[in-house]
Amino acid sequence: MDEVNETTELADQQIESLRDNVDKIDDSILQLLAERRRLSSEIAGEKQRTHRPFRDESRENSLLTKRIEAARQHDLDPGFVVRIWEQIISDSVSLQHERLQGLINGGASTAIVALQGIEGSYSQLAAEQFFRDKPVDISLLACTKFSDTVDAVEHGRADVAILPVENTTSGGIAEVYDLLLHSRLAVIGEVKYRVRHCLLGTADSSLDTIKSVYGHPQAVTQCSEFLGDLQDVEVIFFGDTAMSGRRIKAMGDPAVAAIASEEAARRFGLQVLKRDIGNRKENFTRFLVVARDPISVDERIPSKTSLVLAVGNAPGALMEVLAEFSTEGIPLVKLESRPTVDNPWEEMFYLDFDGNVADERVQRALDGVKRKAKFVRVLGCYPSQDLRPQRRNLDVAPDASRIQVKSRSKEPEAALKPSGYKIASRVHKGDNTVIEVGDVKLGGDDLVVIAGPCAVESFEQVMTAAAAVKAAGATILRGGCFKPRTSPYSFQGLGYEGLEMLVEAGRAHGMPIVTEVPAPEEVEKMSQTADILQIGARNMQNFTLLSEVGRSARPVMLKRGMSASLDELLQAAEYILDAGNQQVFLCERGIRTFETSTRNTLDVAAVPVLQSRTHLPVIVDPSHAAGDRKLVTPLALAGQAAGAHGIMVEVHPNPAEALSDGPQALDLDDFANLMELMVGSR
Ligand code: PEP
Ligand code: MN
Repeated sequence: MDEVNETTELADQQIESLRDNVDKIDDSILQLLAERRRLSSEIAGEKQRTHRPFRDESRENSLLTKRIEAARQHDLDPGFVVRIWEQIISDSVSLQHERLQGLINGGASTAIVALQGIEGSYSQLAAEQFFRDKPVDISLLACTKFSDTVDAVEHGRADVAILPVENTTSGGIAEVYDLLLHSRLAVIGEVKYRVRHCLLGTADSSLDTIKSVYGHPQAVTQCSEFLGDLQDVEVIFFGDTAMSGRRIKAMGDPAVAAIASEEAARRFGLQVLKRDIGNRKENFTRFLVVARDPISVDERIPSKTSLVLAVGNAPGALMEVLAEFSTEGIPLVKLESRPTVDNPWEEMFYLDFDGNVADERVQRALDGVKRKAKFVRVLGCYPSQDLRPQRRNLDVAPDASRIQVKSRSKEPEAALKPSGYKIASRVHKGDNTVIEVGDVKLGGDDLVVIAGPCAVESFEQVMTAAAAVKAAGATILRGGCFKPRTSPYSFQGLGYEGLEMLVEAGRAHGMPIVTEVPAPEEVEKMSQTADILQIGARNMQNFTLLSEVGRSARPVMLKRGMSASLDELLQAAEYILDAGNQQVFLCERGIRTFETSTRNTLDVAAVPVLQSRTHLPVIVDPSHAAGDRKLVTPLALAGQAAGAHGIMVEVHPNPAEALSDGPQALDLDDFANLMELMVGSR
């Protein structure tokens, strides 16, 4: 017995000492990050002094390429390393922007920030985020109403106010839009704050003892699914999230909980009963920072401008005004409408665009708008927080984005009357539909390659496959999470757990993902994270499912049923289009014939025939047609030669161990070879 105790003690000591070393490493990482930041800020100063551009994409790319090589030498996963450095680079870019902006407008070194709510509120956290890299010390002026914050700035009791304008889950905050219109303040900045709601309780409460929950109405809406699952719990609407926390602390009742941030738990000495209780994982609130005077934004920094306008009710009035922006090539990033308070029959439009008011193109567009609109007010121009991820072509062998197709039929088939479908036909729309997902354009001149495992089996498996297919030139990652299989005894997929892995792998390697949605009731939930929804061959005529994906805003890949004619495929597509979703592409994946040498028979002719009947993009899946990896390469090349807009191939890091469709999966080298052949046969 003693011996056992001794060994356990020894093992404990061993672990303790290893942990000490890990702590030391973490400390050094932090010190180095701080040092890196300091250097980056110095570089910003130099760039400012010598009027150099701020973002140096080629330097960012070469930095990442070096990190990828080093990662390989250290046996670290390059995807993991790239993810970390993407964060470091984006932090450094925003630091440099802040520093530059601080130098231009920075007179004062202190600022009083008016906000609605008390300490620990999301507004305060957002204010701290906004000022984090600015050479300004802030103090807070807590107000009870949004209008009080505006009033405080207008009358000089505060320098700026921070106001939430919209949330990704619960939408725009009407009251704040109306305030912006009626105040004379200028927007000088925006903050996108990631909201992580927690359920907080007193020290001795637990999830089972809770009988009532205090929460701000917006927070309650954003956590409705979690709250709905709690049994016999009463929800009490309260001022704001932090106030809810303070209230339950004062009550000291273990049966009462509040929805607030983890930060609020720390400030009020409460316990976090459950983290991340929001309906959506990605829940952001956008705040605007307003001041008495507008700022000017350095033209090297990406900036945004907000304005409000009224155009009247004449047909086409709004379109004519918006055309002023497209003529000048200025991207609109937001358009929101609100009824005019004094005239409920007329709408006010709130509009954000990427651009600087000092830019000539913007001035020309604004002049044009003023000529056409009934009312225009620029609310402000400010540095944009949308640091859009750069498109990086790292470690890419052949550049698949430039694989072209040899021939493609575009002519409407005049003689053929579309039967049973209308919106899908070329008669309805002569030009090809081009579907944009992230940076990928499907339906244009370039061949898009979708690749990945038949099914997501583990995080390692999908990450390895993603890294390899990306490196070989694929631009969309596939992977089944729900696998509707012919036999109930076959592997059925990892479900939502698999979807999370696929999303993570896609993000890490900068690829949108496509995955099969098995049933109408999963469409809404899967649409939250899947970039493209796949309808499998076995579901091609599941009309409820088709109508349901037709209501989603995600592009849909519709696979041809194994015994479906091309007109039946187009009629199935029509169900989706008819329900609203116009982003549909078709996939030829082989059909049942009398031939048994292959799993299915690839109908190569389907490609030109479909292209003559429909404007929708057509891709070819050689894997499910072949059923045998030896045939996948020639069939993929046949698809390319026939003019397909894309090819979808199953790729597995270790096909012999695959849980589904192993015999038809290419291994990583086979896939890289296929990509070379496709580039070569351009
Ligand atoms: C798939 O692509 O994952 C799949 C199951 O294919 P199909 O529906 O064409 O059999
Ligand atoms: Mn498969």
